Amino acid sequence: MRIETLSVFPQMFEPAMSLSIIGRARAAGILDFVAHDLRDWTHDRHNTTDDTPYGGGQGQLMKVEPVFEALDDLTGAEPAFVVFLVPQGIPFTQEIATKLATRERLIMVCGRYEGFDERVYTRADLCLSVGDYILTGGELPAMVVTDALIRLVPGVLGDALSSVDESFTAGLLEYPQYTRPATYRGLDVPDVLLGGNHALIADWQRKQSIIRTAQLRPDLLTSADLTSAERMMAGEALRETQTVHHMQTEPVGEDRLGEDDQRQ
Ligand code: SAM
Repeated sequence: MRIETLSVFPQMFEPAMSLSIIGRARAAGILDFVAHDLRDWTHDRHNTTDDTPYGGGQGQLMKVEPVFEALDDLTGAEPAFVVFLVPQGIPFTQEIATKLATRERLIMVCGRYEGFDERVYTRADLCLSVGDYILTGGELPAMVVTDALIRLVPGVLGDALSSVDESFTAGLLEYPQYTRPATYRGLDVPDVLLGGNHALIADWQRKQSIIRTAQLRPDLLTSADLTSAERMMAGEALRETQTVHHMQTEPVGEDRLGEDDQRQ
């Protein structure tokens, strides 16, 4: 698979793209990654890629010509699926990652400043957002997308099951996991995981996935593949959540975001 980025900060990519799983995928020839510099498609001596917006308004916009010319050159000989990273794009999900991971060649176009001249989107096959917040540029979103999809390409992860058995893949959050020691500061690993009965463990993990999804992300349940008994279990867990403090190791919740830090 070939992934290319087009941005004014191509140097941002190399550190993240050389390490760990992505670095190994590149070394193994599974991923061919190239970060293009949009300034290579400018014609003035300052390599200008931005300009003031028509009609006034704050900040600068990414100019249309360098983006068009770069995409002309990059896609002229060989087709590519062109993705623009923009806050107005469709929300990036595991399902989209799975679809993108089957593409032979992707070009991800990253904005800066106040975003792009609107006409660049005529060159987009897809516009993606990585969330409802504004970053300073599209480079980090492009790295997020690359990271999420490269682990779905066959041969990239050591254990092929590790990308199947994860949050979102089956429409459910992943079950709780533990490693040694079995007891730490009074916090115990559930007995079932210590017993070595694989059928019981699989059953417990499935139930925990369903309960956790019902409690933390009930929106996911509508598309999850559940039996009618599992749906009932999910419904019960959801009802309980409204009254019971549910998990021993509950992740910090949104309600804590507004609290003053009392621990100093
Ligand atoms: N003025 C724009 C707006 O209100 O939508 C925001 C521009 S942002 C400061 C500059 C660039 O960062 C965008 O063009 C886009 O490439 C990237 N970017 C910022 N937030 C993003 C997000 N949530 N998802 C994808 N790309 C994002």
